[in-house]
Order: sequence, then C-alpha cells, then structure tokens
Amino acid sequence: MDAQLLTLIDLQGFDTRLAALEAEAARLPKQIEAIHAALGEARKALDAVKTKADATRKELRTKEKDLEVVTAKRTKADGRLWEVKNNIEYSAVLSEIEAIKQEKARGEEEILGLMELQEHLAIEGREAEARLKAREEQARQDEAVVKKKLAEVESELTSLRADRDSRARELPRPLLADYEKILKARSGIAVASVNSSAVCGGCRMAIRPQAIQELKAARVPMLCENCGRYLYWQESA
Ligand SMILES: [Zn+2]
Repeated sequence: MDAQLLTLIDLQGFDTRLAALEAEAARLPKQIEAIHAALGEARKALDAVKTKADATRKELRTKEKDLEVVTAKRTKADGRLWEVKNNIEYSAVLSEIEAIKQEKARGEEEILGLMELQEHLAIEGREAEARLKAREEQARQDEAVVKKKLAEVESELTSLRADRDSRARELPRPLLADYEKILKARSGIAVASVNSSAVCGGCRMAIRPQAIQELKAARVPMLCENCGRYLYWQESA
C-alpha cells in the first residue's frame, strides 16, 4: 500500500482515539461537579432540618411564656373568687376562669404538639447528619477515583498527541492540511475503508467498479466522490 495512505490510516486511528479521550477529559470534570452538587444537596437538607428545629425551639419558648401568663391569670382569677360581693360577680369570675382554663388547655396542647415536632426533628436531624457524613465519605472516594482517571486520560492525551504529531510530520504539508480539513468537516472521520460491499465506509455511497480497481492498486490516496474522504481498500475478513 502507498506509504502516504498508510500514514493517513494511522493518523485517522490516532485522531479517533484522541477525540474519544478529549471527550472523556471534558466529561470527567463534570462528574466531579455532579459529586459536589449531590453533596451540596445533602448539606442543604440538613440545614433545612436545623432551621426548622430552631424555629420550633423558639416557638416553643414563646408558647411556654404565654402559658406562664395564662397560669398567672388563673391564679389571680382564683383569688378574686374570694373577693366577690355578690352572685353576679361570682358567676362572672367563674366564667372568666372557664375561659382561662380553655386557653390554658389550648396552650398546653400546642406545647405538646411542638415538643413532639421537636423530637421528630431531632431524629430527622440525626439521620440527615448521618446521611451527609456517609455521602461525604463516598464523595471523597468517588472524587479521588475520577481525579485519578482524569490524570491518566490527560497523560495519555499528551503522549498520544506527541505520537500523532510525529506521524503527521511524515506527510507533505498540503496533504496533511487537506486531511485535517476533511477531518473537521466530516465529523472526525477523514479516512474511510471500502470492502467487498463496495460502499464508502464514511458515507455508505456505492463506489464505481473502476474506482474499486484503482483502490485495490492503492498507488495514490483516493477520495470518495460523494463525501470527499480518503478511501482505502480493506479485504473482508
Ligand atoms: Zn464517502
């Protein structure tokens, strides 16, 4: 086979591998971002529980103070029962006491509800904290794996680019420029194979029998008449 054609085939192999590695080098940092984002979500969940617990604690304190006020009111009203001068005043104080009793019962019920909520939030908080801790550990491990992989991909890219460039220097500049132009225009495939099915491996268009003969002889790099890619003959396995 023509030496230049062999170099073109080789170059295509390098460029296909490079494109895959470059895609991975671009993808891996996004994976690290996703790990951080998941961790951020777990932190937010814990913060939300803590905020709610704080609000509940404050509300409970307020309700307890309110209850103290109501209790004091009750003591005062009880005392007034001894000071009333007639039945009308007596029943007025009694109904006041009844109202205070109801207020107190409501307050106590609210406090009970808030205490239950507080307990529930404490459990939820401990769970969220444990979840966050587990996730942080997992994230550390995952990130280390991804970073190691990224370093490997980058070092492979560096050495592969060097190999590719030294191989590319074997081609005359105009031919290399053409190859690179086609590579760019034809989504990363500039060199396509043709086998006994007699279609271009790049665009699947049929190749003329005359062109097949020339391809088999492979004296100079030939182009697909349809997509403009370099063609080479490949015996069917
Ligand atoms: Zn083609």
